[in-house]
Amino acid sequence: MRIDVLTLFPEMFSGPLHTSMLGRAEKNGILEFGVHNIRDWSLNKHHNTDDYAFGGGAGMVMMPQPVFDCMEAVTGGAPARRILMTPRGKTLTPSYARELAKEDRLVILTGHYEGLDERINELIDDEVSIGDYVLTGGELPAMVLIDCVSRFIPGVLGCSESAEDESFSNDGLLEYPQYTRPADFRGRLVPEVLLNGNHAEINKWRRQQSLLKTLQMRPELLSGADLSKKDLEFLSGHGWEPGE
Ligand code: SAM
Repeated sequence: MRIDVLTLFPEMFSGPLHTSMLGRAEKNGILEFGVHNIRDWSLNKHHNTDDYAFGGGAGMVMMPQPVFDCMEAVTGGAPARRILMTPRGKTLTPSYARELAKEDRLVILTGHYEGLDERINELIDDEVSIGDYVLTGGELPAMVLIDCVSRFIPGVLGCSESAEDESFSNDGLLEYPQYTRPADFRGRLVPEVLLNGNHAEINKWRRQQSLLKTLQMRPELLSGADLSKKDLEFLSGHGWEPGE
């Protein structure tokens, strides 16, 4: 997949896109990144990219001209899914990330200041938010989107890792607790069941812990989760009933 980002602060992307799993995927040719400075397309003699809002109010608004020219130069009319990072967009979810992971090309537009001139929206296919809060710019949200989508692209994660066996994936539950060596850390013991090599018992324990964690931390997820009759009995034994 090729991912292009349109930004006023390209230097913010120098670390995250080229480190760890994303860096490895780039080296292996699975991901290709382009980061483009919107300011380079400003026709204004001071290379300004923002101006006061019509109608008044605090803050500056990103002007259409540099963004239109940058988008047109980057895509060159070639097919791409064009995404605007904005707090008013639909919230990023694993199922949406999985859908984007099937695309050959994403172009991600990031805003700054008060946001962008509304006419820029005609360049955009999807408006996406990373949550109900406002950040100073769309760069961090774009990095979150890229990381989240990349995990669903075959080959990005190592063969020992899976994007499907995680919190919120498939069954809609939170993940069970994980432990590693030592089995006894300053008197704090790893649950016995994980040490005995009985995989049926381990799987049962993990499922129950996953149900319990979800009940404790995010009970609202249970109503949309994929629950078996056994899960429902287990949850009912812990005081949860469907419809809560
Ligand atoms: N005035 C805008 C509003 O109230 O919705 C907020 C603008 S924000 C300060 C500047 C830029 O940060 C936005 O244009 C967007 O690109 C990005 N941004 C901020 N919060 C975001 C979020 N939760 N999800 C996605 N992008 C966000």
